[in-house]
Amino acid sequence: MSPPVSIAHLASRPDLDNPGPLPYVIAGPCSAESEQQVLQAARALADVPGVKAFRAGVWKPRTRPNTFEGIGDDALHWLEAAKAETGLAVAIEVANAAHVEAALRHGVDIFWIGARTTTNPFSVQEIADSLRGVDLPVWVKNPVNPDVQLWLGALERVNKAGITRLGAIHRGFTSSEKMAYRNAPKWEIVIELRRLVPDLPVLCDPSHIAGRTDVLRTLSQKALDLAMSGLMIEVHPEPEKAMSDAKQQLRPDELARLLGSLHLREEGSSVLRTDSRLQELRVQSNAIDYELLETLARRMHVVKEIGQVKKEHNLTILQVQRWQEVLRDRLEKAGDLGLDTTLVRAIYELLHEHAIALQSEVMNDLKT
Ligand code: PEP
Ligand code: MN
Repeated sequence: MSPPVSIAHLASRPDLDNPGPLPYVIAGPCSAESEQQVLQAARALADVPGVKAFRAGVWKPRTRPNTFEGIGDDALHWLEAAKAETGLAVAIEVANAAHVEAALRHGVDIFWIGARTTTNPFSVQEIADSLRGVDLPVWVKNPVNPDVQLWLGALERVNKAGITRLGAIHRGFTSSEKMAYRNAPKWEIVIELRRLVPDLPVLCDPSHIAGRTDVLRTLSQKALDLAMSGLMIEVHPEPEKAMSDAKQQLRPDELARLLGSLHLREEGSSVLRTDSRLQELRVQSNAIDYELLETLARRMHVVKEIGQVKKEHNLTILQVQRWQEVLRDRLEKAGDLGLDTTLVRAIYELLHEHAIALQSEVMNDLKT
């Protein structure tokens, strides 16, 4: 059994200075690269409605050495200048106490702990200790591995140091499975975190989930549909020239279009708004539906491949004995799980009917 969650005294939102009905957006380049790039990005973002804070990486945790590891302390001067000129709050990633101290000397407003750092309790503790007595918002990205307890542990360490303007950022998880995204979203992990700490604001970082730009809108909309509080998005004045994460950064005008296209959904009547248990259950049920649909898509893909094999061996599509076995086995399993077997039978009959239709297309080269 895990120990009880101890995140106490959360401020209602970490962005207390900027509350509002719109999603909270932190945007800016993956890395601060030059004074000109930082100022150009900040000026453009200050004009994008909804952007509340400017992000830039100063020290970059790169997978391999001999790649660009960030400008370091010098970049803090550029961020100070960007803040003075645009009025945007400045957010950076910190990975140790020296980073925190340097950032505080340069008036950084918001901190985040990166995904690699979150995996290491020693580093998180060091950062938490260096933040003691600092009343600034801190966002903790999920660890690279899908471990909700590790994420929660990092949040608890920071909260124990007295940080109440605390939030989490969902940036996806490393996966060995072949997939369309750079990092697997695994929405169920975020849902679990929210179940454990319902008052914790969570942002989505679609840039690091996607690793590309064409799916950012879909991911952002999904995050809002999952009632997340806002977004952290990478934006660069000239993405193709970026020194890190070039493929996933938007231009400022593209961000403006993306934010403008998002549907902000009504959360419903006052009862819906006030009953947090009901809200939480609905978020969970949406996410499970997505999992079901993804599972269904995977099953249909396998069904199609089975059709190919049957074709190669000149086997009939309908294999009565196999169908009898499948149905018996699944109904038994459904009974064990406490499911209504009438419902499960209906679902399987429909699935089987569609599987036969699909395999018949494969078999007869109707559509493949
Ligand atoms: C980043 O925000 O640029 C970054 C390095 O992110 P992550 O820690 O999510 O990889
Ligand atoms: Mn990045």
